[in-house]
Amino acid sequence: MRDIFDNSYARLPDRFFTKLPPVPVAQPQILRINDALARELGLDPADLTAEVLTGNALLPGSEPLAQVYAGHQFGGWVPRLGDGRAILLGEVTGDFGRRDIQLKGSGVTPYSRNGDGRAWVGPVMREYIVSEAMHAFGVPTTRALGAALTGEGVQRERRYPGAILTRVAASHIRVGTFQYFAARGDTAGLRLLSDHCIARHYPEADGPLSFLAGVVAAQARLVAKWMSLGFIHGVMNTDNMAVSGETIDYGPCAFMDAYHPRTVFSSIDQQGRYAFQAQPNMAVWNLAQLATALLPLMDGDPDRAAEEATRVLESFADHFSPEWMRLFRAKIGLVSEEDGDEALITGLLSRMASSQADFTATFTALSDGDASTHITDDGAWNSWAPDWTARLEREPGDHRKTMRAANPVLIPRNHRVEEAIQAGIDGDHAPFHRLVDALTRPFDPRPEDRDLATPPKPDERVLRTFCGT
Ligand code: AMP
Ligand code: MG
Repeated sequence: MRDIFDNSYARLPDRFFTKLPPVPVAQPQILRINDALARELGLDPADLTAEVLTGNALLPGSEPLAQVYAGHQFGGWVPRLGDGRAILLGEVTGDFGRRDIQLKGSGVTPYSRNGDGRAWVGPVMREYIVSEAMHAFGVPTTRALGAALTGEGVQRERRYPGAILTRVAASHIRVGTFQYFAARGDTAGLRLLSDHCIARHYPEADGPLSFLAGVVAAQARLVAKWMSLGFIHGVMNTDNMAVSGETIDYGPCAFMDAYHPRTVFSSIDQQGRYAFQAQPNMAVWNLAQLATALLPLMDGDPDRAAEEATRVLESFADHFSPEWMRLFRAKIGLVSEEDGDEALITGLLSRMASSQADFTATFTALSDGDASTHITDDGAWNSWAPDWTARLEREPGDHRKTMRAANPVLIPRNHRVEEAIQAGIDGDHAPFHRLVDALTRPFDPRPEDRDLATPPKPDERVLRTFCGT
């Protein structure tokens, strides 16, 4: 097999990582391979053996390493995190650009702290399902190249089957990676990291300020997309925010069923720090940490640098709001812009909230022209629908087509993800495969997958999700 790796991160100085191989596992067994993604990356799916997907064997050209990073977790500063259960195998390049290939759940590293460095089949399935669904929705995201079982048990609240996810990302460099070097006063390291990220993700940027501006814009657009899908990341810690602008680290994430802006799923998010509607503000909070970390690289007077960085942070709204409007306009069938559109959209959302309407099913119903069975709050539909109809009459083009392209019918519903995981614990992988297969076409599901669109019955609702390491 030809060597397709070109490991730019591994060429950075030693203090950026620890080189070490994955810890071998007992009995590698393939759970799933993403053939299409493998081919996109110039890999032969046949080379992704169970041994490769567990780290028992390395693809030629791999230079396995664990990356350093720090981060704010739920607002609290943690100076040393790093890849505690992940190994970067290397970077592949091609007409798609440059992509990291990483194993997650690959055993202890110097950054494991008290963890076992492992993952179990539940979180691996969840990340596979949700990240690939996000890709199908058109949301920038890390992706799943494959998943394998280790043949070993992993001890959590009970013993679960161990598994490893093979993850692909534009890079795994996080806001927390910058914070790591900034906190050490390592300005030379910071500069190398910044140059590395500019070359890799923002080649048009000519310095730390325009790099920051690029990350701010990318994150603003990303979070707007999350909002348009009812997606709640759940752990938007600075170590879980990629500077590339991709969604990363699918832990206690979830798509809302019943819409409410204050929805929280994560069992560890007791204050609602990362509640649905808090996400844009939390993104800005994280980006402020990136700005702070970058200050030593900015020229001239520190006060002026801080002022300029603040101005860049304030540009978040300039990217977020138009993207949010564009996405929600499309969700109600609009492409053109009118002043009253925002009121029309927020009017719908508040009626959805008071009706506890299912987020996804409501927009699917709108695509068919009538969401009155979802907007059930007294008089709510009848007080909104006429304005919408009147607005659509002023709108050229095919409204239904616009809505069908903007509103996925299928999302990874929590109760379905949970069902796949529960079956997976017992060694039945069929529900997992079915869900992943169906979610490759979320806007236009096959008839036999339509049942996956059905919202949970009251007793099926999943109200809590767990970080699930
Ligand atoms: P996460 O919650 O996935 O964002 O991880 C936060 C930090 O905890 C990172 O440094 C992870 O590498 C580390 N970590 C999470 N789970 C484990 C585990 N099972 N073993 C070792 N480190 C872990
Ligand atoms: Mg993380």
